Amino acid sequence: MVEIRRSNSGSDGLIYDRWAAEGLPCVPTSPSPGRKVWTKRIDRAAELAERNPWAREVLAFHVRILEFQRNVFEASQSKLGATTRDQAGLRGSINLDEAIRSFPELLAVVRKSGPSKLAEEASRLLHLSGPQLHDMLAAWLAKSDLPDDGTSFFARALLQPQAEQLAQTAGPRGQQVVGNKCPYCQSNPQLAVIRPEGDGGKRLLLCSFCQSEWEFRRILCPSCGEEHNDNLPRYSAEGIAAVRVEACDVCKHYLKSVDMTVDGLAVPVVDEIATAPLDLWAVEHGYRKIQLNLMGF
Ligand SMILES: [Zn+2]
Ligand SMILES: [Zn+2]
Repeated sequence: MVEIRRSNSGSDGLIYDRWAAEGLPCVPTSPSPGRKVWTKRIDRAAELAERNPWAREVLAFHVRILEFQRNVFEASQSKLGATTRDQAGLRGSINLDEAIRSFPELLAVVRKSGPSKLAEEASRLLHLSGPQLHDMLAAWLAKSDLPDDGTSFFARALLQPQAEQLAQTAGPRGQQVVGNKCPYCQSNPQLAVIRPEGDGGKRLLLCSFCQSEWEFRRILCPSCGEEHNDNLPRYSAEGIAAVRVEACDVCKHYLKSVDMTVDGLAVPVVDEIATAPLDLWAVEHGYRKIQLNLMGF
């Protein structure tokens, strides 16, 4: 097992956020669009699977899911190009009929390559009719937090590429001040990303659904808003240089951060999944993740 070190958020030599006192305007930075992004994720997952024996199985499955999602993304690209977001926002603009057409392919991938529990669930979902599936996806989308029940994996894997596509084409909703929910789709953050800025790094949160990023203060809990450095420990592990646990001792929530100033080749959403030992450690020490990732960690 990995050895864990504790530090507090201000002691890592990175710049203290200049908006710390008055809050921060929403500066969302949509991920760069297109096939390249998916290929980069797939390549990174394959590379990390090679390097990390403990993550090999989960990453091999993640590669299959990413390949599926890349196909869905490409298929929806032309169809969603001209869409303007309606009053229902990003979630309400997702084309469920379009998504349902890809559902049999997702079930086939999971039954072939997924862990046994998910494969069983895939076999059960095989018998759903079109209208039942439509209702299931609509109910899942209507929940403000992404639920972690049995069907959640399927809804999330299926709808995520369209959500990402919509976020890239339509932009965030209105002029929002900073929040702990995604300005594009109002989902929880999956993780934090530290991106280089000047001599240090700035923190962004990455959405657990549409994969957009938005700036967020360095010393601030994304779950409860705690601002005291002493209550916001960061835990890092020997051998995992760029990924840390960012915890809060007030609300006992955590998320992981991927530091691109340490590893510029990291692909945050993949590196986050590849570092499950940090999640196991955090849970054993009484912390609860703000949002489990697609693979259930
Ligand atoms: Zn989002
Ligand atoms: Zn907190």
